[in-house]
Amino acid sequence: MAWFKREIKGIITTTEEKKEAPDGIWNKCPQCKKPLHYSEQVENQYVCHYCGFHLRIGSKEYFSVLFDNNEFTELNPDMVSGDPLNFTDTKKYTDRLTETQFKTGLKDAIRAAVGKIDGQDIVIACMDFNFIGGSMGSVVGEKIARSIDYAIAHKVPFLMISKSGGARMMEAAFSLMQMAKTSAKLALLSQAKVPYISLLTDPTTGGVTASYAMLGDINIAEPGALIGFAGPRVIKETIKKDLPKGFQTAEFVKEHGFLDFIIDRREMKAELAAFLKMMKN
Ligand SMILES: [Zn+2]
Repeated sequence: MAWFKREIKGIITTTEEKKEAPDGIWNKCPQCKKPLHYSEQVENQYVCHYCGFHLRIGSKEYFSVLFDNNEFTELNPDMVSGDPLNFTDTKKYTDRLTETQFKTGLKDAIRAAVGKIDGQDIVIACMDFNFIGGSMGSVVGEKIARSIDYAIAHKVPFLMISKSGGARMMEAAFSLMQMAKTSAKLALLSQAKVPYISLLTDPTTGGVTASYAMLGDINIAEPGALIGFAGPRVIKETIKKDLPKGFQTAEFVKEHGFLDFIIDRREMKAELAAFLKMMKN
């Protein structure tokens, strides 16, 4: 006999009355589908401890993984985008920005900060995919440019963590100008002999790949990351050929000479510290 008996049949909870499960306590690994508890994710630097899948994380998590004791000073934290084109798609761009800012707690698709990795100074600019697909608008470009200015002024190495769907359509040409601006700034960084490390994470595509993401003194990717310029469907239709297996994965891109290393996120901090030390000498 059961301990409890359901006496009323056909209980229905209306959508408004349904309670939200606390978000992110349990997560399913997108690759092996095994459940991952939040504390395990934190402990494993947001890598699935069953299959090694690298979960998509944002600047908050990358900063906590990389900066010593999660201590850093954010650079230009309050910069927000304007709406120079008075753009409207399914909704007004200004409304989309306000909503996304409220939902994500971010001001735009990037955060930059200065701190230490293993006791060595570093400036890290990290993109957030949650914010309109990590799209590169004027704020992203400007924050990268100012981070590079800071890196030059203080002779501190610069690490860029890319995670982006490409240009921000709502800013059209203003978005595309960021490619030229960031590339020019990186040339100045190079002239000043300050090291630049680029870390490409899943996904790094479009104008980001075509500019700052591929310009590192060292270009690193996380395992399995999607890296490309145009999507596979567009390429297939253009060249009228089937694409090889594993096309646009970090492993494929490295095999073809566009990346220097693929590094597991759990070893990332130690490896970066080693690079910084090597480049200092
Ligand atoms: Zn897994």
